[in-house]
Amino acid sequence: MNYTSTRDSSISVSVAETIVKGISEEGGLFVPANLSVLPKFSVAKLARLAAESYHSYQNIAFDIFFPLFDFALHIEDELRNSIGNAYSANFKTGDVTRLVALEDTGKCASYALELWHGPTAAFKDMALQALPGLMSLSKIMLKRGGEKTLILVATSGDTGKAALEGFKDAPGIEIAVFYPEEGVSDMQKLQMLTQEGANVHVFAVKGNFDDCQTAVKEAFADSEILAKASAAGVAFSSANSINWGRLFPQIVYYIDAYVQLIRRSAIKAGDKINICVPTGNFGNILAAYYAIQMGLPVNKLICASNSNNVLTDFINTGIYNRNREFCTTVSPSMDILVSSNLERLLFHFTGGDSTQINKWFDSLKTSGEFEIDNKLKAKIGKLFYGGWCDESDTAKTIKSVFMNNGYLMDTHTAVGHKVWRDYVKETGDIRTKTLIVSTANAYKFADSVYEALYGKFIPRMPSYDDMLNPNLSNFGMRDDDDVLPAVSDDALTRLSERTGIRLPASLAAVRNKEVRFSGKAVAKEQIKETVLKIITGTIYKER
Ligand SMILES: *Cc1c(COP(=O)(O)O)cnc(C)c1O
Repeated sequence: MNYTSTRDSSISVSVAETIVKGISEEGGLFVPANLSVLPKFSVAKLARLAAESYHSYQNIAFDIFFPLFDFALHIEDELRNSIGNAYSANFKTGDVTRLVALEDTGKCASYALELWHGPTAAFKDMALQALPGLMSLSKIMLKRGGEKTLILVATSGDTGKAALEGFKDAPGIEIAVFYPEEGVSDMQKLQMLTQEGANVHVFAVKGNFDDCQTAVKEAFADSEILAKASAAGVAFSSANSINWGRLFPQIVYYIDAYVQLIRRSAIKAGDKINICVPTGNFGNILAAYYAIQMGLPVNKLICASNSNNVLTDFINTGIYNRNREFCTTVSPSMDILVSSNLERLLFHFTGGDSTQINKWFDSLKTSGEFEIDNKLKAKIGKLFYGGWCDESDTAKTIKSVFMNNGYLMDTHTAVGHKVWRDYVKETGDIRTKTLIVSTANAYKFADSVYEALYGKFIPRMPSYDDMLNPNLSNFGMRDDDDVLPAVSDDALTRLSERTGIRLPASLAAVRNKEVRFSGKAVAKEQIKETVLKIITGTIYKER
């Protein structure tokens, strides 16, 4: 398979190059040059997968990964190993994901597709547990196995931790993560600042996610940085969803979830479903678009935003305008005004017109906006529904779903649920089964979830009762190694006590880990200097 760049369609590179480079030199994103050669999942094949007696996320992953690489390359065994390592005991459910019916069976229309059973309790693990293996395989394919790679990551919270966890102590790799000082949850911050590994760097930035993302993208193209890196024998890559290798592993769970729905007799093979995705950088929902290109029967892709509702406006008006106030919300992983992966969608929708893409994205850079024509807007609107949910509705949704169904969702998933209900109200489409993609475990945003259910969390003095076993119920959908909360008073503990729902062991453990990084924020202008220090090995790791 060949890949090209959204900003220069004359480029043609292998999948290995897209993964090792992360982003194309002229600033474009790598995309499959021809969508018609993507692997196919026909209705018959989907039905066959559902009828197989064993369930195997890994097999579906292989059926997708292998053709995206190259059949001719004899890397079958290596790829199988790499998939086996990525999706094994590090996911706390045998099925890797979990599909939960959100209403009574019989009249159920929506299912939470839980993608957060990996080590960091957010969906980023789905791709970032696989990317390190794919990257070392790619380096070997390019005969650059001995080369040092520096991975730069801009994060709104979840990517950073998942990338650190995936790449920690990976041979030949160094990784630096930049997160917005004020833009992540306490848990997200703690997860990053306690990160283990000898090859990891973590920095807070004075600014928002877009500032981090822009500075990192600029670092990739900075001539001084590139010269120093080349002199030091260091190549850059990205673990953000601008990297194709971060994106395509996300196709797997859409196909897999569809197969699970058939197996549960919720649908028949060939029935169309809706997929509702809480969206930030547009990577997750774009993976669903690629799944459709591979044959997945889908009626609507529902793009759910929080108060940073640029995408909602774009889908409804055809105008992308980032000149607006940046809102810091309770769903921080979606606090984004420049959704990078939209560029890939537009490239495909224009039939690969990189000239047009350059015009739009130059305009976005200089004036902060661009507009597509009505014909293209209509084409996008046929497949995509755009909606958004404000802070108060996010909280109300968490509460009403928990009170009515006993299902505890995080703030991002709640945005998805609300927008799906708006979609149903607006269109009357109650019958199409809908996957609501659940992107994080509720305890990752424990303060906000607690507040939604019980009012603002106020720590209390520990009482004697706290020392006793809080006698939590075994409610619901817990993983085998979920634990009782430690006896200390924080939002995680109290949320678990009051809901009776256990929290993931990995999140409970973070509270007792050594803090390795200071979290002292650098100015966004200092990011370049910081990257240079890492390249030359003069950075000192703050402890
Ligand atoms: C990253 C993230 C999102 C947004 O996903 P995109 O692929 O950037 O659209 C939504 N929810 C959570 C919890 C996330 O970590």
